[in-house]
Amino acid sequence: MTKNEFRQALTSQSYNMKKLSRRDFNSTLTKGLGSFALLGSTTAACSQPTTAATVVNKDQKKLGIALVGLGSYSTHQLAPALLETDYCRLAAIVTGTPEKEQVWANKYQLPKEHIYNYNNFDTIINDTAVDIVYVVLPNSMHADFCIRAAKAGKHVICEKPMAINTEECQAIIDACEQANVKLSVGYRMQSEPYTQEVKRLVKEQTFGKVNYISVDAAYKNGGNWDQWRLDKKLSGGGALLNMGVYAIQGVIYGTGELPISVTAQEFSTRPDLFKDTDETITAQFEFPSGAVGSIMTSHNARGNRLYASCDKGWFELRPAHSYGPISGQRSDGEAFEFPHKSQQALQMDDFSKHILQGTPNMAPGSMGLRDMVIAEAIYASIAAGGKKMSLDLGAFAPAQ
Ligand code: NAD
Repeated sequence: MTKNEFRQALTSQSYNMKKLSRRDFNSTLTKGLGSFALLGSTTAACSQPTTAATVVNKDQKKLGIALVGLGSYSTHQLAPALLETDYCRLAAIVTGTPEKEQVWANKYQLPKEHIYNYNNFDTIINDTAVDIVYVVLPNSMHADFCIRAAKAGKHVICEKPMAINTEECQAIIDACEQANVKLSVGYRMQSEPYTQEVKRLVKEQTFGKVNYISVDAAYKNGGNWDQWRLDKKLSGGGALLNMGVYAIQGVIYGTGELPISVTAQEFSTRPDLFKDTDETITAQFEFPSGAVGSIMTSHNARGNRLYASCDKGWFELRPAHSYGPISGQRSDGEAFEFPHKSQQALQMDDFSKHILQGTPNMAPGSMGLRDMVIAEAIYASIAAGGKKMSLDLGAFAPAQ
């Protein structure tokens, strides 16, 4: 099977994973359907409560996190959040910029032996203060560093998008399974109270069945045209792989269903600036219940909203995915309000509790792979002139 056929198989009805037995999975794999078929065993392995890294550091109250890549997100969100966390703390840093070493060492009281660069990163295997490696690098570097972290026996948090294609996502999952370490994607909204309330409203059908879900996750590039997000080699894609994954997540938890088809369009008003990455994408989804979804993502238009229209009313988050505070409204006028806490602190504590106590993994690797299957179907639809692509996500966990 060629790579193109593999991609088509992922987005067609021809491979219903639910109907495949484990033996079928493995034999299909060896025939070339590829790593996607490993998902069943991977999901099971990643939910085991005790792993090598936990045992190494069992006496320490807070798990130690090593941040890999000290760019904007690590500097302004993750490191400050680690001062608020109850179950984890900043234990090490990995940077390719020597000038940052002393600045971070002073600011976070990090001894020299817990400071790494990209070349000596693998020696982190000997650092018993580090339980979790959090990869916060440009998207095309996620797979390499996540796999190396797993081989070093560390639990892994991989920033979103999980990687730049489904094959890389599966390779990360496989590496974590083989090393018997836990894996999570940096989907901070999964630990966020407004998002969890959306899930409750959907599950309990507070406003009846959701018939239509609309999610916009987009921003306007403020003039920084020389950045890795606009370089396909480093980003793997434009708006869709950046903010678009939040929109994909939103239509899933906003309906409580996995989509069965997607139709997508791409718009470019500035091809001189958006040379090889997508500027604006819209996509429409069909769900098994008959619900319909719509998303917009862009690097050249603003959008930050989740709106669900139901049989007996509606609910909305606006903003829906910024760092907070998030804001909620309901058609019955009842309060939709929660105290604000750092989403990143909640997310890292949730993953740490998953490791320490076996609580659910809020954003497992399979979720990152699932979303990449959908992103690839969106790109395939665009490449085919807006053709409707079938999605068979039956092998994945129920909508989350
Ligand atoms: P950034 O550009 O601010 O930082 C990137 C870091 O990677 C820098 O420290 C840079 O030195 C380093 N780097 C190493 N090799 C590089 C290369 N070849 N080119 C460019 N940089 C290189 O990016 P960021 O905003 O911190 O994003 C990092 C990751 O975090 C991305 O995967 C992004 O999608 C993700 N992110 C997630 C969220 C979220 O809300 N979950 C928010 C922002 C970023």
